[in-house]
Amino acid sequence: MESAPPYDGGVRLPIYLDHHATTPCDPRVVEAMLPYFSGTFGNPASRNHVFGWRAEEAVETARAQVAVLVGAQAKEIVFTSGATESDNLMLKGAAGRLADKGDHIVTVATEHPAVLDTVAALEGRGFRVTRLPVGRDGLLGADDVARALEERTILVSVMWANNEIGVLQPIEAIGRLCRERGVLFAVDAAQALGKLPIDVRAAGVDLLAVSAHKVYGPKGVGALYVRSGAPRLRLEPQIDGGGHERGFRSGTLNVPGIVGFGAACALAGATLAEEGERILGLRERLRRGILSRVDDVQVNGSLECRLPGNLNLSFAGVDGEALLMALRDVAVSSGSACASASPEPSHVILALGVGSDLAHASIRFGVGRGNTEAEIDYVIDLVAEKVKGLRALPSASGSLRRAAQ
Ligand SMILES: *Cc1c(COP(=O)(O)O)cnc(C)c1O
Repeated sequence: MESAPPYDGGVRLPIYLDHHATTPCDPRVVEAMLPYFSGTFGNPASRNHVFGWRAEEAVETARAQVAVLVGAQAKEIVFTSGATESDNLMLKGAAGRLADKGDHIVTVATEHPAVLDTVAALEGRGFRVTRLPVGRDGLLGADDVARALEERTILVSVMWANNEIGVLQPIEAIGRLCRERGVLFAVDAAQALGKLPIDVRAAGVDLLAVSAHKVYGPKGVGALYVRSGAPRLRLEPQIDGGGHERGFRSGTLNVPGIVGFGAACALAGATLAEEGERILGLRERLRRGILSRVDDVQVNGSLECRLPGNLNLSFAGVDGEALLMALRDVAVSSGSACASASPEPSHVILALGVGSDLAHASIRFGVGRGNTEAEIDYVIDLVAEKVKGLRALPSASGSLRRAAQ
């Protein structure tokens, strides 16, 4: 950021409302990481001196901290470079191992590209993939999954919380079904971690992908929960080498990053309920504020089964990209951040069946730890003003859109 940010009514600009794309590293997390860059810099794989032992101790503490937040045992946590890698490892790793048992994978149309592109790659290797549609509310029924299961289904992959519309899939019900049918259940929980209570055992989850930078930890570190116990779950490693992480993922561990991830999980666990309530309050203030001031706005996705910090709105007759430009002091996104370089409407909003116009008119607000009521009120005013302005210019959305390209 530049040195002197502009002030408006006591609110410091720009305002960050894009916590699904990433979160700032909590200063307490940074504090916990600092000693592991230069002082305690050892390689945890160094078995014969104190530098290695200290690094290993720090990694094992972090492993336990991550495990606690998802209801796992420490030995079930494999550190990776993020949820993208974890998704790749869980899907390619499981499919590779189970190829002699079956060739069919079930997932959902609204998954993150880290899952959708990975199953597409598996399709290229001969696996068959069913991509289940969702209802208008963005939700899947456990029955939908049941109907999709076949004799040769080996794997079901369903995200816990959606990164665009925040909806929460019925993970426990799907987990029960998968257990009954002896099918592996893989869950991308990058958006759910630290926002909702997660208990992998109670939910019947076999594989769970998470990321540090979505939970106020550093970027470039994540984890995969791999259930232990019978029946033995085996994964084909995707990165070969020195056999780190019990052979699941070779490569020298990112010790400061892992320490930060552990600290972020400990913080999230300690404040989950309280913070969730506060963030839900802000989200509802934002939703009510905008809906009371602006006509023809619709909420995309179920409001009931939803992350506390997520609000995804379509403003009829307004282009999302044009509105993003008009809101330049507020960091929000249209479509998903990963796809925002392309003018295609979001695959998630399209899957709701809202039509291409409303899909192009969607904006994602992601409320997080640092946001205040004053910021929310500022955003409500700004959105109301800018939407009215854009609607008053019949051709404005089209021309602004072109200008943005
Ligand atoms: C952010 C995100 C990912 C990717 O995580 P990285 O750690 O950035 O690789 C995967 N899935 C979902 C649902 C996400 O929100």
